[in-house]
Amino acid sequence: MTRFIDTRALAALLAQVGVRRFMSELSVTMRDDYRRWHEFDKSARLAAHSDVGVIELMPISDASQYAFKYVNGHPSNGRYELPTVMAFGALADVETGYPTLLSELTLATGVRTAVASALAASVLARPDSATMGMIGCGAQSEFQAIAFESLLGVRRVRLYDIDAAAVAKLRRNLERHTDLVVEVVDSARAAAEGVDILTTATADKALATIVDTSMLSNGLHINAVGGDCPGKTELAAGVLEASSVFVEFEPQTRIEGDIQQMPGSFAVTELWQVLTGAHPGRVSDSEITVFDSVGFALEDYSMLRQVGHYAESLDIGERIHLVPNLDDNKNLYGLVDSALGERPARDAA
Ligand code: NAD
Repeated sequence: MTRFIDTRALAALLAQVGVRRFMSELSVTMRDDYRRWHEFDKSARLAAHSDVGVIELMPISDASQYAFKYVNGHPSNGRYELPTVMAFGALADVETGYPTLLSELTLATGVRTAVASALAASVLARPDSATMGMIGCGAQSEFQAIAFESLLGVRRVRLYDIDAAAVAKLRRNLERHTDLVVEVVDSARAAAEGVDILTTATADKALATIVDTSMLSNGLHINAVGGDCPGKTELAAGVLEASSVFVEFEPQTRIEGDIQQMPGSFAVTELWQVLTGAHPGRVSDSEITVFDSVGFALEDYSMLRQVGHYAESLDIGERIHLVPNLDDNKNLYGLVDSALGERPARDAA
């Protein structure tokens, strides 16, 4: 049978394991998966765009497991009282195609995106980084702050959002769940002032300029999370020109990331190259680095495996008949027969 994890089950799993412990273990799993880059069958995600958003499918597999995620991005979903990003996905056995896990991935995306950001920052930000500016205080923001506090050693955050209620929500959650020193500022520029790391996680289906070159300082690492689909960016082209830019999977990021503004010849480095030591990553304390994050299927593969592991060991979620378990695999119609019970088939029709 297939294990089914809905949003409440995943929340219970995270509460039982502890978000920080889960993130710390996922960071190791994800790093190890990135290090075996060439073992994966990879493709850029398949996107269906509309004027207001995008719906995407993200498949990936290695020799033993296949994973996919369904995810949307609709920045104006607030008017329907829905989140901007919603997702679910599955893990299957490559040998048989049997789906072993069907899981919510909205909450999971918050966790895995923050872990991917922190993993990238661990090799790209200055090692003594302790302060972070956060532009965009929506659904992703707590996860980002917690991952950077527990995996990177960030101690102080500076928050900005055009929505004061989002800032208040983030401040409240961080004061309750972290030891971070929290400061609220009144502009994106103030959020970037003097920080070691700048995280941008805004949602707007526009070629926006959240960060321009006048906001840069020597040695800054930019964790650019929100520019993740065609026609949706956060960084000015000049910011990218002034920086060393790192991406997850280049063919996908060329279409979806902030580098969509740049010519195809613009040089970028894939994260796996830094994680395997094939590329040095940051080379000086004064260099400006950008992680142009769009979210890659491998991160969901790592997440799904870890969710599956804990769901089994803690027995969380339900076991469902997502695919048939038959005594006679050629008698698929027998399922209808059983559902009809004692009634003759003609009566039921
Ligand atoms: P959200 O809608 O919950 O939050 C976005 C926040 O950005 C809102 O509070 C909004 O007020 C704020 N905002 C919009 N324009 C702004 C501006 N000009 N200046 C300051 N703040 C501004 O969305 P979310 O779920 O937190 O996602 C944030 C972004 O991250 C989205 O664009 C989403 O598509 C993207 N995302 C990327 C990844 C990835 O892997 N890279 C994963 C998940 C989400």
